[in-house]
Amino acid sequence: MAFDYDLFVIGGGSGGVRAARVAAQGGAKVALAEEDRYGGTCVIRGCVPKKLMVFASEFASTPTEAQAYGWDMSLGDFDWQKFSGKLNEELDRLEGVYRNLLKNSGVESFDARARLKDAHTVELSTGESVTAKHILIATGGHPVRPDMPNAHLGMVSDDIFHLKKLPKSVLIIGGGYIACEFAGILNGLGVEVTQYYRGAQILRGFDDEARGLIAESMRENGINLHLGTNILEMAPASADHSASHAGTASDAAMGASAGDAADLLPGAGARGEPVWVKATNGAENVFDAVFFATGRDPNTADMGLEEVGVEIGRRGEIVVDEYSQTAVPSIYAIGDVTNRVALTPVAIREGMAFVDTVFNGTPTPVDHDLIPSAVFTQPELGTVGMSEEEAREQEPVEVYCTSFRPMRTAFAGKPDRVLFKLIVSEKTRKVLGCHIVAPSAGEMIQLAGIAVKMGATKEDFDRTVAVHPTMSEEIVTMKTPMRTA
Ligand code: NDP
Repeated sequence: MAFDYDLFVIGGGSGGVRAARVAAQGGAKVALAEEDRYGGTCVIRGCVPKKLMVFASEFASTPTEAQAYGWDMSLGDFDWQKFSGKLNEELDRLEGVYRNLLKNSGVESFDARARLKDAHTVELSTGESVTAKHILIATGGHPVRPDMPNAHLGMVSDDIFHLKKLPKSVLIIGGGYIACEFAGILNGLGVEVTQYYRGAQILRGFDDEARGLIAESMRENGINLHLGTNILEMAPASADHSASHAGTASDAAMGASAGDAADLLPGAGARGEPVWVKATNGAENVFDAVFFATGRDPNTADMGLEEVGVEIGRRGEIVVDEYSQTAVPSIYAIGDVTNRVALTPVAIREGMAFVDTVFNGTPTPVDHDLIPSAVFTQPELGTVGMSEEEAREQEPVEVYCTSFRPMRTAFAGKPDRVLFKLIVSEKTRKVLGCHIVAPSAGEMIQLAGIAVKMGATKEDFDRTVAVHPTMSEEIVTMKTPMRTA
């Protein structure tokens, strides 16, 4: 049977675009459909604008540090309109880059929503119907709100980039990557930030000591972090709420106040209006905005997946094998829609492995082992491999750890601390995990990740000469285990 295309990709994010253009460059006839903006979550409403916001927020601490170093410098006002205008221009530019990458590789793009009709046919919202030998689903995910009355009043991460102005106060719900990163960003930009996390410590799954230091630093930076606390009820803030609750003991403890929040998100209805919140600890407060950072679900709804035989898992994810193949042999899926490791570089790797497997005759399983990652808090957390808690479940380990005040901020009289930690197998001497909490830990862990991925032992780290004076030299100078477990 002759098909219109060798490959039809649904979704123009990092994973889909990479797979489409690499397949096309190899000679395949490829088309791609995207219903929203090209670049997907990472470029349009995730990693890229988030990182630019991190940069913007971190200038807030520059003047006080500079003053300690002898500069006459003071902090002026932050102009959100100016920043967000420039941010949007940059996103438009990047979207253009993504479109051009496809065009220049010979990929035909459809600005349309796609739905599966059968194992080889895709129906587009434009009314067209096309056939392909292989279909790749790379539709990503979307932020979810908890299932509770009035949850629609809360914003999600997608909304943050569309704010017309910054709220005076915000309540962030959640303790994962997005919650902690935005707590730092908004705090740095001058918003009063309260964060509720239902568990005992933020950043579940990361190394306990690292999580502890991040939480401590967030509090020192002025974030009102409440652990073991969740949102119980929420409602539009009325004059009644403000009058009855402003200035109560709980308000004072929470440090929250509602400012002039009208029109935070024009056109979004009640979302972006002040919200009254009751917490599980009984506290009642009014916030200019509530921000749910309570996880993301795969985008699999209304795509005709189950009807054609694609298996869907409990969280709505597409179930795939190690080659990213679904239960329907002609249909593959990569990236967040498969709910494996929801990180851009992983989706890109999965896309490349798909092309090798299907178009280059080299069956390539995706390697999900020892993926370095970073959480862009202040300070950042960079991590690769197992946490101490995970590792000691597996085998006897030595733990090398140091925490200290780094030269730059210590000179400025700031209390900031950093942490460098290695988890080492007693038996093989391999470094099983490396955890860094420090400014630029994301940059450091990329390099440490190479050594850990290569299977470096503690002795390999030890025989590497330190780069002095740096913070990261500690990673090669820790001589005595702090403990064994
Ligand atoms: P996460 O899954 O990391 O965190 C979700 C948080 O919300 C958890 O703290 C969870 O608590 C909490 N939560 C879930 N449901 C509820 C509820 N009903 N009520 C209260 N709290 C709730 O998701 P994120 O949205 O932060 O991020 C999604 C993914 O995106 C990440 O896992 C990551 O892979 C990726 N990402 C990566 C970044 C990076 O590389 N720097 C940055 C941002 C995102 P609990 O722990 O108890 O389950």
